[in-house]
Amino acid sequence: MMNPVEATNWYFRKAARLIDLDEWTVRRLLTPFREVKVECTIRRDDGTFSTFVGYRVQHDHSRGPMKGGLRYHPQVDPDEVNTLAALMTWKTAVVNLPYGGAKGGINCDPRALSTSELQRLTRTFVEKIHDIIGVHTDIPAPDMGTNAQTMAWIMDEYSKFHGYAPGVVTGKPVELGGSLGRESATGRGLLYAAECLFADEGRRVSDFTYAIQGFGNVGSWAARLFAEQGARIVAVSDITGAVRNPEGLDIPALVQHVAQSGGVAGFAGGEAFAPDMLLAEPCDVLIPAALGGVLNRDTAPGVRARYILEAANHPSDPEADEIFARHGVTVLPDIYANAGGVTVSYFEWTQNVQQYRWSEQKVNAELRETMRQAYADLRATQKQYQCDLRTAAFALAVSRVARATNLRGL
Ligand code: NAD
Repeated sequence: MMNPVEATNWYFRKAARLIDLDEWTVRRLLTPFREVKVECTIRRDDGTFSTFVGYRVQHDHSRGPMKGGLRYHPQVDPDEVNTLAALMTWKTAVVNLPYGGAKGGINCDPRALSTSELQRLTRTFVEKIHDIIGVHTDIPAPDMGTNAQTMAWIMDEYSKFHGYAPGVVTGKPVELGGSLGRESATGRGLLYAAECLFADEGRRVSDFTYAIQGFGNVGSWAARLFAEQGARIVAVSDITGAVRNPEGLDIPALVQHVAQSGGVAGFAGGEAFAPDMLLAEPCDVLIPAALGGVLNRDTAPGVRARYILEAANHPSDPEADEIFARHGVTVLPDIYANAGGVTVSYFEWTQNVQQYRWSEQKVNAELRETMRQAYADLRATQKQYQCDLRTAAFALAVSRVARATNLRGL
């Protein structure tokens, strides 16, 4: 089984061969622009000290300022941050945002830190990296373990050094320059992407049944928005359990249940089943919206869906892809399917730079247009190279970044 680092490089090299990329450009695109490691020592609430290691990897900036999340998690390590930074370069290029890619993280367990400890840690981290991030250089955003509050602290600390600069981070609270529509953006982008995919076959979102793994931000918004279009969501799982109902789950009621109880377990509108069976549920469309690596040589043969919409990052590995290709399963790849989040982050940054606020309606309309245009580009690339959609997405992204790199010159 390939780890995410190996898999990303594998997809990159496959696309590079397909578009006949020269070895010099391959080398340049595989090497990150800058990798920074800092040690952050903070005073704990009980008067003792702790030191945490933080990273920011800036992969490529040939197409614009670098963009990518900041993760607080005990498993953050340089290899993982490196891979995720490269994936951001390819993701922003697929949807043609004027950005490059970056990623960062702090090796810590955010649940073991108090709010004031998290604030001190975040401010210490910014103190050490403020001269390499910026509105026109590198713009962090929330990721696992960080949220709008973290972004507010980063903006405040950064502004102490450089003056008021809301555009230095996205995913901020709306009161501090965050965008309307950001919270639902990844689920909504997935819906627009699915509409394009199904329209190619003369079908609609409401023609199919769906199973969704994960009911957090992305999974729950996807469930709500697909159900509003008449889709039947027949199974949902999260860390607490799984529920199924072949007639279709009542999603607004499930959202309310999760808000009250903290998870899908115990929902009365369906039958409980083992969450690890979710991927093998009978349905037309499977939406992995939780963890990476869940679809692999062990689980892929059991998938009964005809379509997979990759809402999570890196849910399938190359071995799973091969199995899906043999079984005639169409996979809409993560670097396109879940790009709605970074797209609305771009709209947030645009509003900050312009000092002008968009309506939610405008945000959603622009998101739809971005997803549609990217889909048209993806299909055209697929036709040109006669390949699957993931290879086409990488080929499209790598060729855009390579062209920008070579136009800039040495
Ligand atoms: P989240 O933390 O809000 O939700 C994660 C969900 O997954 C929760 O419901 C959790 O209970 C569930 N889960 C965890 N372990 C599970 C397991 N073993 N089985 C079933 N469910 C499990 O996270 P999110 O923001 O919704 O992100 C989900 C995925 O989408 C991640 O892979 C993330 O990288 C990706 N993604 C998120 C965004 C975004 O804008 N939030 C954008 C692009 C990609």
